[in-house]
Amino acid sequence: MKDFIRIRGISKYFGDFAAVDDVSLDIAKGELFSILGGSGCGKTTLLRILAGFELPTKGTVEIDGVDVTNQPPYQRPVNMMFQSYAIFPHMSVAKNVAYGLQKEGVARTDIEKRVDQALDLVQLRDFAKRKPDQLSGGQRQRVALARAIIKRPKVLLLDEPLAALDKKLRERTQFELMNIQDELGITFVVVTHDQEEAMTLSTRIAVMEQGRFLQIGTPLEIYEYPRNRFVADFIGTINTFDGTVQQIDENTLVIDSEEAGTTITALGRHDVVVGQKVCVAVRPEKIFVGKDEPDNSEDTRVRGVVHDLGYLGNLSLYRIKLVNDNIVLVSSQNRRRSASRFLEWEDEVWISWRPRSVAVLLE
Ligand code: ATP
Repeated sequence: MKDFIRIRGISKYFGDFAAVDDVSLDIAKGELFSILGGSGCGKTTLLRILAGFELPTKGTVEIDGVDVTNQPPYQRPVNMMFQSYAIFPHMSVAKNVAYGLQKEGVARTDIEKRVDQALDLVQLRDFAKRKPDQLSGGQRQRVALARAIIKRPKVLLLDEPLAALDKKLRERTQFELMNIQDELGITFVVVTHDQEEAMTLSTRIAVMEQGRFLQIGTPLEIYEYPRNRFVADFIGTINTFDGTVQQIDENTLVIDSEEAGTTITALGRHDVVVGQKVCVAVRPEKIFVGKDEPDNSEDTRVRGVVHDLGYLGNLSLYRIKLVNDNIVLVSSQNRRRSASRFLEWEDEVWISWRPRSVAVLLE
């Protein structure tokens, strides 16, 4: 993977406060990379540093082999699509899209051709003559996107690109955005607080908190192997149990957990010692629930009662209350029409999960 954007030791201080705190990151050409984090974690500041709207206090930014750290925005091969789309209300869609090229003095026939191409790409050709107030939210978002890509930047920075759209439209637009990115081959860097959006869109994600990256990885790596409790909690739903390492064998790790009301078997690892405090995390969909005692001896198993259940069509969600009163969330796929709805409130059940379904978190 060739590094296309290299961020090295970037910090940004506002007075004493580090909005971005010594982050380094490489992004490959053609990636759709997301920076994911809650409000105030520093993601927009980092994006503004990439765009050149903000100078870092420390560190360097390189794009396509050129150190751009001190270059102004207009000299960088970068374009930014802002949170508020900043579309001119008095101009037609086509004029809005053409605006940037006109300012650059591009020849008129060229402009027309490129506007047509850009509108084709975002599927707005039939809307070229409309004014922004005659468009839906999703269509306006696509005008902004056409405006941002028409200058053919090497890198497109998108700050919460789908935040203004309702859930349904957001889901559809996510896929459109991926297709457009795929077709253009432009490197996209997206800032978002929406974990589902980041999971769907991205080739890789950096999870950010208090100015730092907690984990960088593919959506699968971050979901299946969260490195710490914050990442595990932030991405999707997960059950966590505090515990103490009791035994380390070649292939397994046994963790005693009062919170889970049992000992938990996980896959072996070499970076823990007996007596160490750890946190065990298990996703709801990795837990089996049933009335019979499971017989696979390696699996962790606990008794409980069905405290709550929800039927979502393809899924059933259960809140299982353990003997120690802790609640464990379980979700199970409903494959057959009625067979899996065999559990009812207050049913006594066993829950169990495999060693490989367990993530052991050290912090
Ligand atoms: P949001 O999703 O709410 O926009 P964010 O992760 O994008 O959050 P940033 O805008 O990067 O957050 O801000 C990070 C921190 O830096 C915040 O605590 C913010 O108050 C602070 N900050 C941002 N810009 C400035 C500024 N110009 N002066 C002082 N503090 C700032």
